[in-house]
Amino acid sequence: MQPNITSIPILQLASGDLLSIELYRFFGKQSGAKVYLQANLHGAEIVGNAVIYGLLDWLSHLKPDQLNGEIWLVPVCNPLGTNQRSHYFSSGRFNPYDGKDWNRIFWDYEKEAEDLLGFAQAHLNVEINTIQDIYRKRIQAQFEKLADKLRLPAGAPLSDHYRFHLQSLCLDADYLIDLHSTSNQGLDYLYYFAGREERAKLFDLDYGILLDRYDGDAFDEAFIKPWLALEQCFAKLGRTLRFDREAWTLELGNGMQMKPASVKKGILGIQNYLIQKGLVQGVALPPAISKPQMYLASTSKLQKYYSPFGGMVCPQVSLGDSVQQGQMLYQLLSFNKQSLLPPTQIEVVAQQNGIVYDLSSNQAVNMGEYVLATF
Ligand SMILES: [Zn+2]
Repeated sequence: MQPNITSIPILQLASGDLLSIELYRFFGKQSGAKVYLQANLHGAEIVGNAVIYGLLDWLSHLKPDQLNGEIWLVPVCNPLGTNQRSHYFSSGRFNPYDGKDWNRIFWDYEKEAEDLLGFAQAHLNVEINTIQDIYRKRIQAQFEKLADKLRLPAGAPLSDHYRFHLQSLCLDADYLIDLHSTSNQGLDYLYYFAGREERAKLFDLDYGILLDRYDGDAFDEAFIKPWLALEQCFAKLGRTLRFDREAWTLELGNGMQMKPASVKKGILGIQNYLIQKGLVQGVALPPAISKPQMYLASTSKLQKYYSPFGGMVCPQVSLGDSVQQGQMLYQLLSFNKQSLLPPTQIEVVAQQNGIVYDLSSNQAVNMGEYVLATF
């Protein structure tokens, strides 16, 4: 099965050059759900490109009758971020022009939706698939108004244009998968949303973080929040509904790297998800590679550690370590500039129990800079 491939111009540079994204679309013989995958929204987080590369190969070897529905894939979805450099290093997390995080710019229908409770009331006894269709059309109609604004003579900031391109590809999807990694050194895990714990396990990863506290306007949030909000409205009216809409952000290993183990986990996990969701059929499930029990954390209980002084960090823990409250996490070598020998090493201990899931790559820190995190 060969994909339909389209180049979409997204940005003309001052030099006149044009930046584009490439969209790969696989259409099955049978109609079904639409899955949207993208990678590299943050410039340093390149691992998802290798995952998509592997998936393109896998999907190309399927026959059209093995796919129910459609799968859309966009690698290197943020060319400006991917190409950003400072010496050897990619950062690419923030738009250098306006300082905005590339993953905090997306349009969220929930913020504009008028009278969601009224909508739920009016559809209280309507069958769930019909509600999904009507609600999706509502979201899309509102989204289309953004296009009108982009065409006005006054123009619009780059982030408004950019988000419109990406969201126009995914708003009608049923399932969305955004592939990231830490900018530092990190474990392989995913972010999931309320009521989707069981489905999170289909990705066969060892760790999952429930987004019970939102950062705001992230790509996954912007997609799923309107649906969660409507579920809550129905719940208030006494009807329990779970829309067949899912958004996942996979965090796979380190920044600026494509660790083979992380790439493999990403590919196998997504294959497992697509097969178990019934999109792909007639192929064996990939071998299970995760621990028997997925460790579930939540964003409200994450603990990030910031250095109390400036200095050089000597970590005393590794990624994946379980730490107990009071256990030493790192030592800090700090020079005091007071014409004295430096003090004995400063020791920083764990504030609460947890597992180390992220470690700064840069071991030189100014006071208040990030060192590590536990969940
Ligand atoms: Zn990211």
